[in-house]
Amino acid sequence: TKWVLTFGDGRAEGRAEMRDLLGGKGANLAEMANIGLPVPPGFTITTEVCTHFYANGRAYPQELKAQVDTGLAHIEQITSRKFGDEANPLLVSVRSGSRASMPGMMDTILNLGLNDRTVEGLATDADDRRFAYDSYRRFIQMYSNVVLGIGHDAFEDILETAKEKKGIVEDVELDAEDWIKIVAAYKAKVLAETGAAFPQEPADQLWGAIGAVFQSWMNPRAITYRRLNSIPESWGTAVNVQAMVFGNMGETSATGVAFTRDPSTGEKSLYGEFLVNAQGEDVVAGIRTPQPITEAARAAGGVKAPSLEARMPDVFKEFVGVATKLEMHYRDMQDLEFTVERGKLWMLQARNGKRTAKAALKVAVDLVNEGVLSKEEAVARIDPSSLDQLLHPTIDPKAERKIIASGLPASPGAAQGEIVFSSEAAEEATQGEKTARKVILVRVETSPEDIHGMHVAAGILTTRGGMTSHAAVVARGMGKPCVSGAGSLRIDEKAGTLTIGGKVFKAGDIITIDGSTGQIIDGAVAMIEPELSGDFGVLMGWADQIRRMKIRANAETPEDARAARGFGAEGIGLSRTEHMFFDERRIVAVREMILADDEAGRKKALAKLLPYQRSDFRELFEIMKGLPVTIRLLDPPLHEFLPHGDEAVAEVAKEMGIEPEKLQARADALHEFNPMLGFRGCRLAIAFPEIAEMQARAIFEAAVEAAKETGAPVTCEVMVPLVIGRKDFDFVKARIDAVAKEVESETGEKLIYQVGTMIELPRAALMAGEIAETAEFFSFGTNDLTQTALGISRDDAAPFLGPYVAKGLLDTDPFVTIDREGVGELVEIGCERGRKVRPNIKLGICGEHGGDPASIDFCEEVGLDYVSCSPFRVPIARLAAAQAAL
Ligand code: PEP
Ligand code: MG
Repeated sequence: TKWVLTFGDGRAEGRAEMRDLLGGKGANLAEMANIGLPVPPGFTITTEVCTHFYANGRAYPQELKAQVDTGLAHIEQITSRKFGDEANPLLVSVRSGSRASMPGMMDTILNLGLNDRTVEGLATDADDRRFAYDSYRRFIQMYSNVVLGIGHDAFEDILETAKEKKGIVEDVELDAEDWIKIVAAYKAKVLAETGAAFPQEPADQLWGAIGAVFQSWMNPRAITYRRLNSIPESWGTAVNVQAMVFGNMGETSATGVAFTRDPSTGEKSLYGEFLVNAQGEDVVAGIRTPQPITEAARAAGGVKAPSLEARMPDVFKEFVGVATKLEMHYRDMQDLEFTVERGKLWMLQARNGKRTAKAALKVAVDLVNEGVLSKEEAVARIDPSSLDQLLHPTIDPKAERKIIASGLPASPGAAQGEIVFSSEAAEEATQGEKTARKVILVRVETSPEDIHGMHVAAGILTTRGGMTSHAAVVARGMGKPCVSGAGSLRIDEKAGTLTIGGKVFKAGDIITIDGSTGQIIDGAVAMIEPELSGDFGVLMGWADQIRRMKIRANAETPEDARAARGFGAEGIGLSRTEHMFFDERRIVAVREMILADDEAGRKKALAKLLPYQRSDFRELFEIMKGLPVTIRLLDPPLHEFLPHGDEAVAEVAKEMGIEPEKLQARADALHEFNPMLGFRGCRLAIAFPEIAEMQARAIFEAAVEAAKETGAPVTCEVMVPLVIGRKDFDFVKARIDAVAKEVESETGEKLIYQVGTMIELPRAALMAGEIAETAEFFSFGTNDLTQTALGISRDDAAPFLGPYVAKGLLDTDPFVTIDREGVGELVEIGCERGRKVRPNIKLGICGEHGGDPASIDFCEEVGLDYVSCSPFRVPIARLAAAQAAL
């Protein structure tokens, strides 16, 4: 078996595609060598050695030693140096490198091969004893830390004491003799700590370092990082051994990092920094201020120190050539590390550069215009979720965050404001043009009663509830930041306090929430406003050409519907009519309806609601101008519309002119322990058909009016929630059809409408064949389908779903990304059985999964006609649907 692959001098045994075997770093070094770039020679020990190591009681394959020796000989031959040679020593770096970049692991050991004898060889070669001994002490410190497990502090103490004694502050003020003494003290420290002398034999050093890299694969930090990022343990890490090049060999040496394009804007200009006479870690450490690479950047930044372009013009020219070549080769913006040793350029690393969402769009669009990428490739490159960054305000990445707690990242974007504990307080604080303040609505959980408070709040924070809880769903619909299920928070409503980790906040105190990460932050933090550039529109246009599925929005208010249109929605896939019932005047009529003792009383109250509903629907139809609009009949349990708590009951009773006892009795009668599985959905329409009839009438009358107004025929789809089979569906459908007939004969207009159903219970998915005999479309309500298939209450899931995911028992929150095996199979069954009976049945999804890229991929696989998601997710869905179709 080949366990070791070499590279250098214009060729390599590996290639970029061999990332699994060589790790990211090793594969890129091989590729750079292959295309003739100046890469210090070296070799990569493959990830298979790591796997072998752990499968065989931490032993190496037998052939490894000989192969490493061959690798060393390869480096020696190219560099004309010898490992351990006193006059002309070869020094190497040893680095880990797995398939995915893994910050939890051992990083780097530099200058390996130095000992008491070779250090003199290096001194002679560099003509600089100070440099040689400084390198030696750096090596002792790194090696002792990584391989021997001695903390940095021990060495820092020695260094500080030496400087104090001499009365100096900067390392550079130490001379060769000082460093020689420090090296001696370092070695004494190692002996004292480990009982053995610092290893002098280069071969021992090398095997010690290789062993440390493999061991680091199993250190706790690496294990945690893998778990959090779903990186399989079986991947293993590679080890890269490479000839050292020195950026700290004097004034003609340097080291730097660069991006081939600006990673924050995507602008096509070389962007980077360098330091003369320094090693790579110095640039990162920030002890000295690095200088810009190009003259243009230097001038723009008003920097006095010369740029690389001015200081080393030949090296700069060569570097620009290398950067261009790499960008063309990888067909993407590159992140580069380089070193200049005595005027010679060496490339140490090249990889696709991390970038902001804005830069990602610009780079992708520019690369298409430059003829480097196809439109399909550009579309495939953009992470759909990253578009959130462009649509919502975000926290300035440079700003300091005092994170005090965290919850679920329920709705993206950041917001800050005064803490308020009730929707009433939220409304009060935000009133008046001059007096309005920004508020964060903090609740244990929200209910439809809070819609008005959520509407005026800058952001929403709840201590209970999962990713499809009321707060999460409504906030996403409104495009408002929300952190939900922050279980470590304690709200004391009576005292008006919020306790987070021992600190007590009062109403009026300022907090910031980041709905993209779930963080809760003390005080106000600097924010960045969203900005939609032209590149966004261009890329979205390409995505639209590629995708097959239609994208609709979940929307019920005119603002949401307009926002959805603005983001490119092609219709409304779910209009939750209950959200229309909460405005001050309507709620009175709704309560009257609920409290009515008989059908006649209910009908009277419903008659008051009809005009409101009609005008709501009419506005939606007009905004959507002929695009399909799905309106769902009333879904939530009725008790949600009634007041809770003595005070609220008394107040509402007074408003309504009834006895508080009567209201309380009705509220008690309607109270349910598990309302989301109770008296809701079409069950309301079955018990009280007049509710469905009123809604149907409002829908159809609105359709007639809107068609007259806009001249475009209205395509409306009436949707029945929570059916368990054909019979309950048919019962409600018959009422809807009857109302349609009435409206047609009253107005003399022909209605274009369909009646369909949500498939959101397992039984409905199984009965899909029968249901399709009369239902003209299905919309999969995967929120309820997930809660019912898994038996996990969507409102109470947060406290135990977290541990499930953390302990690896579930890959992801099933309320965020569809559970393909379970819920997914129910969807598949529903599609299959539905299509068999009605081949052209329209199939869509309107659960929260409709805006999740991984779930959208699944929807494409099962061949849904459309996905419907909250307005702010429409762009994400457009892009994800295009990627799913590629
Ligand atoms: C669903 O259950 O997936 C759905 C869209 O309906 P709701 O979230 O309103 O219950
Ligand atoms: Mg539902």
